[in-house]
Amino acid sequence: MMAQYLEIKGRYPDALLFYRMGDFYELFFSDAEAASAALDIALTKRGQHQGQDIAMCGVPHHAAEGYLLTLIRKGFRVAVCEQLENPAEAKKRGYKAVVKRDVVRLVTPGTLTEDTLLNAREHNFLAAFATIRGGAAFAWVDVSTGDLQVTTLPPAHLPRMLARVAPSELLVAEPEAEALRDGVEEAGVTLTPRAPSGFDSTQGEARLKDLFDVSTLDAFGNFERTETAALGALIDYLDLTQKGKLPLIRPPVKEQAGGAMQIDMATRRNLELSRSLAGSREGSLLAAMDRTLTGTGARLLEVRLSSPSTDLATINARHDAVALFTENASLAASVRDILCRAPDMERALSRLSLERGGPRDLAALRGGLAVASELAENLSVVDLPELLTEATAALTGHEALATLLEDALIAEPPHLARDGGFIAAGYDEDLDEARELRDEGRGVIAGLQKTYQDQTGIGALKIKHNNVLGYFIETPATHAEKMLFPPHNESFRHRQTTANQLRFTSEELTRMETRILNAGGRALDIEKAIFGNLCTAVLAEGPRLSVLARAVAEIDLAAALADLAAGEDWVRPVMRNDRSFRIDKGRHPVVELALRKANSAAFVANDCDLGAESKAARPVWLLTGPNMAGKSTFLRQNALIALLAQVGSYVPADKAEIGIVDQLFSRVGASDDLARGRSTFMVEMVETAAILNQAGPRALVILDEIGRGTATYDGLSIAWATLEHLHDVNGCRTLFATHYHELTSLTAKLSGLANVTMAVREWEGDVIFLHEVREGAADRSYGVQVAKLAGLPAAVIERARTVLQTLEEGDRESGRAAKTLVDDLPLFSATPSPAPIVKNGPSPLEEKLSEVHPDTLSPREALDLVYALKALC
Ligand code: ADP
Repeated sequence: MMAQYLEIKGRYPDALLFYRMGDFYELFFSDAEAASAALDIALTKRGQHQGQDIAMCGVPHHAAEGYLLTLIRKGFRVAVCEQLENPAEAKKRGYKAVVKRDVVRLVTPGTLTEDTLLNAREHNFLAAFATIRGGAAFAWVDVSTGDLQVTTLPPAHLPRMLARVAPSELLVAEPEAEALRDGVEEAGVTLTPRAPSGFDSTQGEARLKDLFDVSTLDAFGNFERTETAALGALIDYLDLTQKGKLPLIRPPVKEQAGGAMQIDMATRRNLELSRSLAGSREGSLLAAMDRTLTGTGARLLEVRLSSPSTDLATINARHDAVALFTENASLAASVRDILCRAPDMERALSRLSLERGGPRDLAALRGGLAVASELAENLSVVDLPELLTEATAALTGHEALATLLEDALIAEPPHLARDGGFIAAGYDEDLDEARELRDEGRGVIAGLQKTYQDQTGIGALKIKHNNVLGYFIETPATHAEKMLFPPHNESFRHRQTTANQLRFTSEELTRMETRILNAGGRALDIEKAIFGNLCTAVLAEGPRLSVLARAVAEIDLAAALADLAAGEDWVRPVMRNDRSFRIDKGRHPVVELALRKANSAAFVANDCDLGAESKAARPVWLLTGPNMAGKSTFLRQNALIALLAQVGSYVPADKAEIGIVDQLFSRVGASDDLARGRSTFMVEMVETAAILNQAGPRALVILDEIGRGTATYDGLSIAWATLEHLHDVNGCRTLFATHYHELTSLTAKLSGLANVTMAVREWEGDVIFLHEVREGAADRSYGVQVAKLAGLPAAVIERARTVLQTLEEGDRESGRAAKTLVDDLPLFSATPSPAPIVKNGPSPLEEKLSEVHPDTLSPREALDLVYALKALC
C-alpha cells in the first residue's frame, strides 16, 4: 500500500494527498504534519518507512468538505485519491492485492464546485494570464457556473484586472511567475505557476475547438494568439484538476478593450464597491444596493458592478429593462414573487456535468424550469424591451425535460444518489416492483402462503424463515402424504423433516426469496441507472439550460434594480456619448442608508455640474470646507452615480445627465500601506502619479486632500501643480477637495475651474455643518471647532484658539507670526481649566436658571418660574 501511496504522491508533489482508506481520507508523512497543524487534528503514527515512523492523520470521508475548505482557504491544494474498486474485487486478484486507487480530482481555490465551499452570491473565478512578445491576455472562468471570458490588455494592467475580476487563483507560465508573485499575492490571489507548454497558443486553439466541438473559433469572435493561449491554459488546468471531466463551459466571450469602465485597485477600494474599507461586505455599495433574489442574479450584479459598461447602447438597454419594472409595479411584484423560489441552476448544472451532482441538483433544475416557465408566462403579457425579450425567449422550450424531471423525482430528494430513494413512485415499473418487494416482502410471502394453502387444501401450511434454510414452507407431519405425492410433489421440494413438521421449498419461493433479498440492491441499481439517464437528458440540453439560467439572472437583476429605484427614489439617468456630467440633488447611497439606520438627520442632496462640453464649462471643481463638512461624501457620491449609471442601475438623484466615463479614478482618504513599506504620503503620491499619467479626456477623477501628508508648503505646491496638470493636460472631469484655501485663487488663471465650498454656520464659537455644496470658497478651516467637537480637552482648545489668532494676525502683518508666537506667548501660558470659559460672568437670568432643577418642579412652579424669568429680562 505504501508503494502505491508513494507512487501517487510522487505525481502530486505540490498538493496534499487525501488517500482514501475505507471511510477515511488519510494523509501521511509531511502532508500529515501540515494538515494536522492546519486543521488542528491529531497527528498519529502508522508503521515505518525506511526505519522512520510514518506520520499520519485522517479526516472522515463524510465530513471531508469542511476540511477541504479550511485547507484551500489556507492556501493548500488537495489531491483527492479514491478507491477505484471495492476490497472484494481486489481480493479476487490475490490475497495481498492492494485496492486500486487514483487521484480523481485536484482541489484548488479556483476550481471549487461544492455549494458548501462556495458563497452563493459571489463568483469564484480561475484566471490565466498569458504573454507573447510583449502582448498579453487575461482569461477567466467560473467553474461553478461555466462563464468563460477573455480580453487583451497591456501587461502592466494585470493588477487592475486582478482588482476587477478578483479571481481566487491565477495561472501564469513558470518563467514569468516569480516576477509577478508579489503583485498577485498582494491582490489576495493564489498564484499557480504552470509549465509553459500549457500556454502554447496553437495547442490552446486545438483545446478550445475540441471542447466546443467546432472546426474554427471564428463563431465566438476573433481571438488574438495571447487570448487563445490564456484560454487554452485554463482548459488545460481544468483538465488536470478535474481529471478529464470538464465542467460545462460556455463558449468564450471576448471583451473588447475599452468595453468596460477602467477602475484601478485603489479606486475600487476607496469607493468601497464590494467591500468596505474595513474589509466587510457590510457598508459597501454592493451590500447597500443588492436586492436580487437569486444567487445567479447576485453574481451578475457583482460582475456588473466590477465592470460597468462604456457602451451607450448596452447601458440604455439595461436601463430599459429596469424601466419596465419601475413602470409596472404589479408585474415587478409578481416576477419577484416567482424569483423567490428560483434555485441556483448554474451551479447545479455544473456539478452534474462534473459527475459530482446528486438528485438535489436535478431537483434544482426541475424547480428552475418551473420558475422559468412561470416567468415567461408573466412576462408574455407586456411589451418587453430588447434585453428582456432576449431573456424571456430563453426561458421556454424545455417542456419535455421539465415533465421528465417532474415525473421522475420525489418532492424533496436527498443530496446524494448513493442511498437511493429519490425517484418518484409510478415512474418506473421495475423500480416500483423492486421497492414493493423490498418494503412489503412479508406481505408478498403472506400472499404466497395463502395461494399454497388454497392449492393444497392444508390450512396449517405456513411459510417461515430461518437463517439456515432461508424461506421455507412448513406443514404438519400429518399432511405429509398430500405434499409428497402427486400432484403437489411436482411443486414442492422436500428439504427437511423435524419431529412434527415437514419443510419444503418451491421454485416460486426460491425465486421470490432471491428477489426479496436482491430487491433492495436492485431498487438501488435501478435508481442509479435512472439517475444516470436523467443526468444525460439534462446535460444534452446543458448549454441551453445555462443560457436559461443567465436569463433568469438578467430578469432578477433588472427587477432588483427597479425595486431599489422605487424604494429609494432613484431616477433613470440620461446617458450621452459626450462629456456632460450634471447631477441634480445627488445623494450618497451608502451614507444615506447609514444615516437613516442611525435615525440621524436626513441626507442633504447636492448638485454637481462638471459638463465639459462648452467653452464656458467648468469641468474642474475645487471644493473647500472644514473636516467633517461632507467633502469626501460629495466626491464619492458623484463617482458612484456615474458608476451606477453605467452598471445599468438607476441613480440616487433627482435628475442625472452623464456623458460616458471610460476611466474612473479616486484618491480619497489616507491609508498607510505599511505591509509594502510605504508611508501614507508615498501611497498618495503613487496613486496621484497614476492618475496624472493615465487620465484621458473622458475620465472622471476625484481627488481628496492631495499633499496633506507632508509639510504645508510642500503639500500646497504639489496640490497646486496637480490641479494645474489635471486642468490643462488631462482635461478630464474632476472634483478636487482641498484644505489649501490658497488654491481657490487659481480660478483667475484656470478658466475651467470653479470654486465650491461646503456650507457651514458658526454659532457661539461652534461650527454647524449644513452639508450643502455652494459656490465660493471657504474662508476658514474651523479645525479648532472640529477638534472641540471631537472632545479635545478645553484647555487645549483654548490654547489652540489663541495660537491660531496670533498666527492669523501675524500672517496679515507679513509673516512674522511664528516670531510673535514665540515672543509673546510663553509655551505654557494656558492653565488647564476644566470649566467652560465664560466671558462676562453670568447674567441675572443665567444665575436664576442655574438654580433651577427641572426634575423637581411641579407644573405650577414651572409656570411661576417662567414669570420670574420674564421679569428679569
Ligand atoms: P469631510 O470629507 O469633509 O471630512 P465627510 O464626507 O467624511 O467629510 O463627512 C463626514 C460626515 O458627515 C459623514 O460621515 C456623514 O455622516 C455626514 N455627511 C456628509 N455629507 C452629508 C450630507 N450631504 N448630508 C448629511 N450628512 C452628511
